[in-house]
Amino acid sequence: MTWFEILLRSASCDEEDGDLLSLQSSLDRESILAILQLLGDLLSVGTDRRIRYMISKGGSEALLWTLVDTARTASPDYVILLPLFRLLAKVGLRDKKFGQKALELEALDVTLILARKNLCHSQNLLHCLWALRVFASSVTTGAMLGINGAMELVLKVITPHTQKHTQVIRTAAEVLAALLKSKSNSRRAVNRSYVPHLLRLHQDWHNHDTANSFIPIRRALLLCLKHIAKLRSGREAFLAAQGMEILFSIIQNCLDDQSLEPVISIVLQILRQCYPKSPLPLLTTSSAYSFPVPGIITSEAPRVLTEEDYEDDGEEEEDKDSDSEDVKEEDDDLETDVNKLSSKPGLDRPEEELMQYKAMCLELSCSFEELESKPGDDLNSDETEYTNHHHIPTAASPKGLFLNKDQISGGQEKEVPVQTSLLSRVKMGRSSIHLTSKRGPGMNSYRNVHSNDPGIGSSGSDVSDVQASFLEDGWDMDAISCPRISASFSNSTKTRETAEFIDQLLQTHLKPMVFHDPYLYMAKARRTRSVADFTMMAFPDFWGHCPPLSAQPMLQRKCGVQRIKILEDVRRLIQPSDIINKVVFSLDEPWPLQDTASDCLQFFSVFESGNLRKAIQVREFEYDLLVNADVNSTQHQQWFYFKVSGMRAAVPYRFNIINCEKPNSQFNYGMQLTLYSVKEALLGRPTWVRTGYDICYYKNHYLQRTAGTGAASGKCYYTLTFAVTFPHAEDACYLAYHYPYTYSALMTHLDILEKSVNRKQVYFRQEVLCQTLGGNSCPLVTITAMPESDSADHLEQFRQRPYQVITARVHPGESNASWVMKGTLEFLVSSDPVARLLRENFIFKIIPMLNPDGVINGNHRCSLRGEDLNRQWLSPSAHLQPTIYHAKGLLHYLGSIGRRPTVFCDFHGHSQKKNVFLYGCSIKETLWQAEATVGTSNLLEDVSYRTLPKILDKLAPAFTMSSCSFLVEKSRASTARVVVWREMGVSRSYTMESSYCGCNQGPYQGLQFGTGELEEMGAMFCLGLLVLELKSGSCSHQLLTRAAALLNAEEESLDFYLQRCSSCSSNSSTASELDDEPPCLEEIEYGTDSSSDQEGSFSELDRQIQECAFHKDEGEEEEEGTGQGRKAIP
Ligand SMILES: [Zn+2]
Repeated sequence: MTWFEILLRSASCDEEDGDLLSLQSSLDRESILAILQLLGDLLSVGTDRRIRYMISKGGSEALLWTLVDTARTASPDYVILLPLFRLLAKVGLRDKKFGQKALELEALDVTLILARKNLCHSQNLLHCLWALRVFASSVTTGAMLGINGAMELVLKVITPHTQKHTQVIRTAAEVLAALLKSKSNSRRAVNRSYVPHLLRLHQDWHNHDTANSFIPIRRALLLCLKHIAKLRSGREAFLAAQGMEILFSIIQNCLDDQSLEPVISIVLQILRQCYPKSPLPLLTTSSAYSFPVPGIITSEAPRVLTEEDYEDDGEEEEDKDSDSEDVKEEDDDLETDVNKLSSKPGLDRPEEELMQYKAMCLELSCSFEELESKPGDDLNSDETEYTNHHHIPTAASPKGLFLNKDQISGGQEKEVPVQTSLLSRVKMGRSSIHLTSKRGPGMNSYRNVHSNDPGIGSSGSDVSDVQASFLEDGWDMDAISCPRISASFSNSTKTRETAEFIDQLLQTHLKPMVFHDPYLYMAKARRTRSVADFTMMAFPDFWGHCPPLSAQPMLQRKCGVQRIKILEDVRRLIQPSDIINKVVFSLDEPWPLQDTASDCLQFFSVFESGNLRKAIQVREFEYDLLVNADVNSTQHQQWFYFKVSGMRAAVPYRFNIINCEKPNSQFNYGMQLTLYSVKEALLGRPTWVRTGYDICYYKNHYLQRTAGTGAASGKCYYTLTFAVTFPHAEDACYLAYHYPYTYSALMTHLDILEKSVNRKQVYFRQEVLCQTLGGNSCPLVTITAMPESDSADHLEQFRQRPYQVITARVHPGESNASWVMKGTLEFLVSSDPVARLLRENFIFKIIPMLNPDGVINGNHRCSLRGEDLNRQWLSPSAHLQPTIYHAKGLLHYLGSIGRRPTVFCDFHGHSQKKNVFLYGCSIKETLWQAEATVGTSNLLEDVSYRTLPKILDKLAPAFTMSSCSFLVEKSRASTARVVVWREMGVSRSYTMESSYCGCNQGPYQGLQFGTGELEEMGAMFCLGLLVLELKSGSCSHQLLTRAAALLNAEEESLDFYLQRCSSCSSNSSTASELDDEPPCLEEIEYGTDSSSDQEGSFSELDRQIQECAFHKDEGEEEEEGTGQGRKAIP
């Protein structure tokens, strides 16, 4: 039996009949020393596993007991105690319950007593401190140590700067930091004025430690302050002691010093934590727009924000100290009720109500003569006005605004420039992926994009001509850059002049743009109803957008960009001399705030999808911006879209959007915002581009209120900050969260699509699903192929085609969904042979915008009732959520006539992830993931829900299977995806999410999405539907033959793809698991202990102990004097 086993046996007394006490006492001094020596050797070479084994066998208790036993004698034996302390520290680090065990075995007291006795004996003291350090890592034990005077004891040891006993001082400071994790200790520290004392100590060490030899001491002192600052009273004490100023000036001089990183990061956390909380600079957080809608109890007058609301910021701290438990699992949200997962509730409405949807499925009953003669439907009633306009472009327009009908869908021979065969692009991507040189900070990204892109602005010579004409004409940029909706139709002379002027501009400068027409846009915008009665149009929506030929790379995040910004924020507080703080734009104060004479930027957002509530000039070239809450709501600020003008050239302007709500953003991972320059458009480059640098997104010091009560919720807002250097002086530019896509743009697009189709081949019907609360029409589009003939057989084939239902843009801020939808629609009516096959085999029912009102009014998430429409699918109401009610009604109707869709998909945008991916629904995967106890073996589930995403993974460059999920969460029970799956039994019911940012896999890896990539995804989705059908058992022989002919005619790439596709069902994608983003380089939050804060890691303490053990034979010599040399603390 080894000594080790003897010791272990002695500890696990309950297993042995021997009694712990007697066995321990029976060991003589020599035996104990021998055991300690042996254990020390064993554990110093062993792995953690060996130590954990020892802990599991009661090793901690045995050591603690030995400590108590040895220390309680009149003259404690340090020959035993020192190696014992080292072992205790080493083992204690790995034993989560060590503090508790020490408390129970009364080891705390004896250690404190020993420490007091050894204040002048540094080596002994150091050993005691190590033990205390380990005890204090349990917060409850730390609190007990505090009660027993541990803080006073260690604070006595921490002196101002000295060269002596620095290891002791360091460990004492670390013990204090550990003790201060307990809130009761922190409270005691505040009451005893530790804060100014700690600040002085830190300052002293900082000033004298010019060689940076004592960074751990400085860091530990800062950690003490950081823990105290978690208390409100601690922050107050910190501010009263000029803590902000002291730490701010300290950090100024060392930002560039890499070796000081451990200090800098803590200083920043303290500064952020102590920055006084304040309300947003708004009178009320309720949306600037309110709209009387049914079912909203008119609440009391919107509550006005006052300073008092923030006096008590809802102190987050509870009084009791407790060791944090493990965070609860996300899986809690998974639905584990098999009945809820599999039952199909009955209709949510009387069956007879479904009959109204028969009229929306005319294709099932109508005879084709009727359809031919039908002159368009009521959506186009503004057509007359529009067609009377002398500028109406026709298919034969000399400027070639449109591709003519033959090009788009008629003559299959012609190659349509925008629609080269989709098959040839499978998984290759449209981007020519020449990664242009990485942009450096401060460079004009706008220019850069174009200068590297020969496809745009190729007419180099006349560019300068136009440039010159800008200067000569002195055009009224205001009138051009935000045209009045009524311009072309008004009778007043002033607007008529503008109208003529815009006509002139369009004639001279408009590039032919496929599927867009400014005049039609204007006509549509006039009919669009907005809460604020918009009278202006945003130039980019009106004029149109041509996607750049290649996608832009993601922005490389500069290290330290966030800390520089945070220090700027702190400087505002403590050195406010250069702060202007002038409101230059506000929706709440509609009088003209902007004196155009002044040098500041001008802002505007009162147009469709516009969202900017307030702009405040902070410094000469810096603006704080606030975005508007969703209509009839106080929250959801994330989307922005506004015009800015009056800029100087080559000046970096900084913008801070200070009331964002989401806790993280792709803006921290390479995403840029989008910019459209009016001058660039007039120069022939009408393009939204990604722009902005020094971008980051972080938690700020503005406090949120809880909805309803008005009490401060303790939650903060987030700041999105970015710098922009505009391409031209005196330009008007539009900045947006993502490429805007308005309701008027959709209505324009649908009309142009309808006109573009070859009616002999393409059945395209546009009708009104319902009216929205805001009085707008929600369009429903039906696309299929005309029957081959009116023979009974052909009509029968026509009517038996399966349905596919696609919806989008229920969340208005997700404009990427509309671009994907645009791609889907254009592809489906195109002459691409794949599109033709699709039309001939399916009937597509498409609702391209489920939330027109939200889109129009610049909402991010909600309807006019301030509610998320994608949480209303369980029981929508006809007059509260009409678009959801009728979309669901139409699906119910299709089900009731035995025609439920093969696939249902709702297009969305995702703000936290990259790539494009699907969410689907699976009972088995959900139960399995939740580790539900219900037996899943006898549950039958068709796994066909996985086929489409697997196909898309192979086909679409932007798509990745690895982000797809098929879990059913309780919190998603009322979304389209889950309701259509559960109530209508559509097993392939999906949400398709597209990143706002771009891809981190596939051909587009490292690139941000342009509109072209998003549109391509929309087309690829359709191709996926075709392949899905080919792989299904029900696929008709005729389709198989035709598809084979088509696919075989294509390049080898296609064969390759088909092979891959046939083998792909065996296993999931080969793409590496692309999970969520890695932790951000700089913390977005500062409230919680951040990952960079290595207090929790004990390897450093381990190292010290190890070092000491090695040197111990060279002497306990370091026998120090009595400490008279120590300075008194000033
Ligand atoms: Zn969404």
